[in-house]
Amino acid sequence: MNDLPVSLYFMPEWWDRHFHGRTPRPARPSQPALEAMYLARLRFLYEQFGRWGIGEERPTRGPGQISTVIRYGFDLVPALLGTQLDLADAWGFYPRLRSLAALHSVKPVDIRGHPEGEWILREKERLERLYGRCSHCIDLGSVTNNAFRMIGEELYAELLHDPAAVESLFGTILATMSALYDFLVDHFGGMNPVPISNCNVGLMSPALYERRVLPFDARQSQFAEHRGGAPRAAVHHCDVPVDRFLPAYAKLPGLASIQAAISSDIRAAKAVAGGCAFSALVSPGYLCGDLAVFERVLRDAFAAGADDLALWNVDSQTDAEALRRAFDLIEAVACEAGRRARFTAMPLCWEEIEWAHARCAVGESSP
Ligand SMILES: [Zn+2]
Repeated sequence: MNDLPVSLYFMPEWWDRHFHGRTPRPARPSQPALEAMYLARLRFLYEQFGRWGIGEERPTRGPGQISTVIRYGFDLVPALLGTQLDLADAWGFYPRLRSLAALHSVKPVDIRGHPEGEWILREKERLERLYGRCSHCIDLGSVTNNAFRMIGEELYAELLHDPAAVESLFGTILATMSALYDFLVDHFGGMNPVPISNCNVGLMSPALYERRVLPFDARQSQFAEHRGGAPRAAVHHCDVPVDRFLPAYAKLPGLASIQAAISSDIRAAKAVAGGCAFSALVSPGYLCGDLAVFERVLRDAFAAGADDLALWNVDSQTDAEALRRAFDLIEAVACEAGRRARFTAMPLCWEEIEWAHARCAVGESSP
């Protein structure tokens, strides 16, 4: 039986509603408080979902999600390029958007030797001292993801009205991402295939994407090639169907995997490149809706060859009982298809790692 990886990520609101009612969040952010919360959540996950191999019966201190370097959520590249990030009384960072015109003189930033690069290396050493090993959750993004966090939806209008100015901004973003890629591979290894996070391209037409954006995504897929590898790309298309973009993605050099909504034409997606994997994003609506619908969708996905399931937006409406029913269903349908479901779940939200370290204040440096 082939394994079917099933990964889960709970939103901060899920933890508030289903865990922190009994165990309040730490009163003051600190590493020991984060660590205690991390271990308690591992145990809670085991109590709720241990039958599916999730959580730990006796969690102990050691490397794991807690020893992850992350900086500014998924907004490190916009921050390097001068975007001011605010915090509000909600999870996440909020970029102060600027106009495209205000960015015409912004130059690429090389994180190597930059204070932010030095911060990341100090954080890596700190976590390695504490837990023995560490990894990172620093997202390169893509030209469109990063541009969207710098100028907002003006991006789409300007791609039509002033494509030369947008392409100049894309070039600056691409050069900044390229240096960041080299920095991350030098210090943490891995990252081949090169991740390309296209959460926002679904808001433009495939023709516009192919004409104005694809050439930059193609250059991003070549980052590994500069280091002696072949071009390889792992495209995250977010939780929307990818079908209309497949003819464009077929032109990406070395397309290794596509991640998109489970409702996509998975067979067609896997056919765009030899050996292309498909990671199926499952929106929470499937988990607490009519399970007969979810069952049909799962059956079609496995028949079409979905390589894994990603349940990455488990929201507060989806309670533990609904999840248990969904896990039983996933397990049964996978088994029918000759697959063994292997569940994993993250005990922390990425924002919580930064917030709990009390170093999330923008521009604040490490003590
Ligand atoms: Zn996304």
